[in-house]
This record gives sequence, structure tokens and C-alpha cells, in this order.
Amino acid sequence: MIRANDIIEKVADYYPAADFDTIRKAYAYSAYAHRNQVRLSGEPYMVHPIEVANMLAEMKMDVASIAAGLLHDTLEDDPMTSIEDLSLRFGDEITSLVEGLTKISKIKFKSSREHQAENYRKMILAMVKDIRVLVIKLVDRMHNMRTLDFQKPARQEAIAQETLDIYAPLANRLGISWMKQEFEDSSLRYLQPTIYHELEEKVARKELESREFIDKIIKLVLRNLDHYGISGEVAGRLKHFYSIYRKMVRRDIAFEQIYDIIAFRILVSDKAECYNVLGIIHALWRPVPSRFKDFISIPKANMYQSLHTSVIGPDGRYIEFQIRTREMHQIAEKGIAAHWHYKEGYQLDDHDRKQMGWLRQMIEWQQDVNNPGEFLDSVKIDLFSEAVYVFTPVGEVKELPSGSTPIDMAYIIHSNIGDHCSGAKVNGKLVPLRYQLKNGEMVEIVTSKRQHPNKDWLAFVKTSKARSKIRQWVKKEEEKRSIELGREFCEKAFARLKLSFNQALKSGKMQAAAVEFSLNHAEALLAAIGRGKLSAQQVINRIYPELREQRKSKGKKEESKASRKPPRDGISIKDIDDVMVRFAKCCNPLPGDDVVGFITRGRGLTIHRRNCRHVHKGESERYMDVEWNLERSTSHSVKIRIMCEDVKGMLVALGTAISSQEANIASGSVKTSIDHKAICFFEIQVKDLEHLKKVKQALRAVKGVYQVARMS
Ligand code: MN
Repeated sequence: MIRANDIIEKVADYYPAADFDTIRKAYAYSAYAHRNQVRLSGEPYMVHPIEVANMLAEMKMDVASIAAGLLHDTLEDDPMTSIEDLSLRFGDEITSLVEGLTKISKIKFKSSREHQAENYRKMILAMVKDIRVLVIKLVDRMHNMRTLDFQKPARQEAIAQETLDIYAPLANRLGISWMKQEFEDSSLRYLQPTIYHELEEKVARKELESREFIDKIIKLVLRNLDHYGISGEVAGRLKHFYSIYRKMVRRDIAFEQIYDIIAFRILVSDKAECYNVLGIIHALWRPVPSRFKDFISIPKANMYQSLHTSVIGPDGRYIEFQIRTREMHQIAEKGIAAHWHYKEGYQLDDHDRKQMGWLRQMIEWQQDVNNPGEFLDSVKIDLFSEAVYVFTPVGEVKELPSGSTPIDMAYIIHSNIGDHCSGAKVNGKLVPLRYQLKNGEMVEIVTSKRQHPNKDWLAFVKTSKARSKIRQWVKKEEEKRSIELGREFCEKAFARLKLSFNQALKSGKMQAAAVEFSLNHAEALLAAIGRGKLSAQQVINRIYPELREQRKSKGKKEESKASRKPPRDGISIKDIDDVMVRFAKCCNPLPGDDVVGFITRGRGLTIHRRNCRHVHKGESERYMDVEWNLERSTSHSVKIRIMCEDVKGMLVALGTAISSQEANIASGSVKTSIDHKAICFFEIQVKDLEHLKKVKQALRAVKGVYQVARMS
């Protein structure tokens, strides 16, 4: 077993002034915490954290990382270890690293489907406050992969898939290419054992066959470099298994058909030499234009820098070259980990700085510190801080903007779930709908059939999907209400004309009318009526134009019933034709009267006399100026009151007087008093004010009549 001193010796090599005591203490603490645990291999559990720490020392990581590597499983495995305990013994820095690692290890990745993998990776990145946690986690997984043989086959496969989906890309993200390759190759070994062993054999044979060829190329390149006074290192190797496998799958070809299986790497001293070497290679062999890539002037997001080119080499064989400086090579192999120890000689120019992606900040900070112990301890990975990652009950990860609520989550799952989201449980506990979700929480949406989106939700939802769905729903509800209202108006208006609304609907007449009003369908027409944009009468006029003609020509007989048939002609309104008009019962306006129109929502215009007590000045926006259209002569109801003597034959005399002026009597009644006086009430039909005046004159001429007055 590796001893504490073995690790310390390694650290002393690259950082002689390190705090070795902390490493010793962590070693002892971990050994005690895991004293009763045994690995599946039969070894003491302690072997695992020691191996992790040892690898971290080999990667030249700082003391805090190595100590955290030793302690990384104590919080989870040892019931006696607590955060307080660790922080008392090892301080906050190491404790927070261990805490971060424990949090990640508690995530259960249930679904390894590809679309989930990206979210898992982001979730881990979002949970990692200190990039060292991620490096230690990768090393932890590396040791588990190296000892995977002891697991049961099903478990091996699950862990290998997870490694391939999540940890290999994360290693790539941090630019640690040796880890990425080892993760990929060892995952392949467990996921596709037959293919893996075949490849192993074929690659070994190919390497043997190619030895001579590789040596020939190396010699040729070295000779040419020498000629131009460049001292460089050249190496040739076969690509790693997984990249060969992926090529075979992607292009659907056999191993034998892969031509670019050998890659040469040329390491030189500086950037200028890289481009010189590129020129030398292109002079030797014809380059394949589409394969040239300049990652020196445009580094990859993980800081990788190199020139890539493919040429058609001897015997027409494709050869790939990677040309880079030794410094670039360090970065390419070790990625972020290189920065814990590799400081001298790595200088960025302004152009590089601009090109650098998310690690730029870290590198700048790194240049300000002298001691690897301090290095990166305050570096935060805020890559995805604008997002939050939560689990569904089946273990899927959902990515949401930070500040998102259960409603956002519900809408992300399905619109229908969002529309009926009535509550949520976070890690099993009920939370309010406006609760803000946090990384790694398991969120269960509670739905109810009776629950519906609410305008108030708009105040706290974060996703545009939730926002637009809620708005959509609210709009749809308003539409529904308008349609109901429109239907009601229509049913009434149709019934007044003894028409069947349902029949008009079923026969497609409403649909046809909708099209005439430039609307898509009958429902839209009803909604327009409900909103008061159209009147039911307008629609009826469109559907049954003949009715209007009939009403016009039928004349008085029909009109005697006019009081029960409110829409009548006789009023014109500026710019508006065919509006539904009713005459107010309260004041019975007559043509000639000073009138106004009162707009009733969905019911058109009601005509009042301007001095009617129901007309209020306050609602001026609902009044409309209207004029009598005297060309169309129609009759209007008016009520009159006659005070007269109570004598025999009086009613007949009054009736005769009214008829003499060609006015119809709709109804009449008499009240008598003990002093032989009578008050008669008549509802009569007149054409207009002038007509009424004549009737009143005729009535006053009857013997025994004292007073004739119009009622309001
Ligand atoms: Mn572990």
C-alpha cells in the first residue's frame, strides 16, 4: 500500500515548502474513518482514497486537493465524520472541497440517455463551486474505472456508460486529454468487450506492421527540421481505441478501411517554429486542404492549442500531423491541471487572452500568485450560474434559468402539466408555487384537474415557455367567455325574429357569415359579437337579407307589433350602417326628439331622448351622436296621458280622435276618480314628433278633455 510518505515525496518534488503535516493528518484521519470498510477487491477501503491522493500528487495538484482526495469519502461513509468535525481539523478550504465531492456523489444518474448526459454534465459544473472539486472527482472516477473488474457485469456497464457520457466529456472540457482518452478506452472495454479486444489485437498488429513506416517518417521529418535549424521532437503513434471505434461506427467502415489511423506529433520551442514546421511538412507532401486546422491562433475552449494537418504521404497513405510547442503540449495533456504547477514560460499575449474562453480568468489570476497552495483556491466556476439543474422523480435532469419555480418546471415537462400545476414537492416536501428551485433538488409536480393557469403566475415565472403558455391560456379563456356571450346575444336576437340560431349554426350559415366579415370561423364571429365588435342584428341582416326587405315592405301591420320587435329603422349613425338599434322603453323617443345613442356591450345602440333620466353625462364615452333618418317612415311607440271628464262615450271619442290622425292605438286604460274625473293612458304609434303633435291637437279638441301630455 502507498504510504503517506510516498505522497509527500512526490509533492516535495514540485513544491518543497508544502504543508506536509496536513497530508499526514488527512491520511491518518481517512485511515481511521474507513478502518472497517473493505473494497470489493478484498483490499482495505483506504486503498482507494490513497490512490486518488497519489494520482493528484502525480498531477502536481496542491495540498488542499490532495488532502481532500484522502478525505473525499469520509463524510459519506463514516457516521462519525461531520462537516463541523472536518472544518475544525482541516479548515474551511479542505472541508468545502470534501463537501462538494460528497454532494456530487449523492446525485443518482438514473437515465443515461444521450440527451440527458449534457444536462448531467452541466448540473455537475453548476454544483462545483471550486474547479478542484471537479479535478478530484475525475481522479476518483479514474481509480474506480481502473478497479472496475471487481464489480458485477451489470454494474460495470452502468458505470462505464456514465463515465463515457459524463466524465469523459468533463475531462475534455477541462482539457485533460489523457484522462479523456483513458475514460473513453476503458468505457469501451466494458461496454463493447468483443470489439474492444478485437481492436486491441488489430491495433497491436498494425503498430508492428507500421513500425518501419513510422520510423521512416520520423527520420525524414527530423532530417528536414535539422536542415532548417529547428530542433524538435517527433513521435508517431496509433490513435486511441475509442477514436478508432467512433470512426468505424460513424463512417460504417471496417478497421482496415481507416486510413488516418497513425498520427505524428511534432513538438518545438515556439509558435513561429510551429508555422515553419507546417511549411516544411507541406513542402514534403501534398496537404489535404480541408484537414488543416489552426488551433494556435484560435484555441479550443479548453485552451487546447496546436496545428493540425493531413498530408498524402509515401505510398499514397494519409498521415496526420499535430504541431505544437512543448508548453502547448503540457496544456493539451494536462489541461486545467497543468496550471497548478506549470507557471514559468507560459505567457499569453493580448490576442490569446481575447481568444481564451472560460479559463481566461483563471489563468490571469494564476499569474498573480506564487504559491501553488494559494492557486485557484478562490476560483469559482460560474460557467452556468444562470442556470439551475433539478431532477424529475424518474431521475431526468431539467435545465432551467436560475430563479425558476415549480410552474416553470411543470411547463418544461409538458404544457398540460403546467396548465394544471397546483403545487410541488421539493425533496418530498410541499413548497409554494413561487418557490425558487435549487441545484440538485428533486422536484415532483402536483397537478389537479381543477387547477388552471392564473394571471398572477406571470409575476414570478422565469421561462418564456411558461410565460407564453399562461398568456395563451388566459387569452383562450377570455375568448371562450366572448363566444358564450356572443352565442347568448345571437340566441336572443334570432328568437326575437322567430329564427333558429342553432339551425343557422348547423346549416353553416353562421360560418358563411363569418367569412363575409373576414373571420375564419363561426366561433370567431360569435366572439366578435361577444366583444361588442359586431351586433347579432348585423349578422342576421347578412344571413337573411330578405327579412329586411320584407320588414320594409310589410308596413304598418307588422309595425303594430313593433314594440315587441325592437330593431327598427329610422336612425342613422355616422359611418356605421346596420347597427343594431333599440329604442329605450323608459323615454320612447320619437323622430324629431333630441336623442342620443347609448352603447351597450354586445347589444348595439339604445336610443334615448337626450333629457331622459337614464342618460348620465359621466359616461360620455358610451354615448354616440345619432340623427333621425326621416326618409324612412316607420312608427314609434309613445305613451300619452289624457285628463278628462268621466262621461259616457269618452273612450270612443278619444279613440276616434287618435284614429283620425292615422295613428294606431297599441293599448289603453282608464282610471276614474269620485269627482267624475278620469285619467286615460294610451300607447299609440306615431311616425314622429310632428305626427304626435297633430294627435295631441285632435285629442284636445274633444269635448271634456282638459289636458293631453306625453309621458316619459
Ligand atoms: Mn471515491
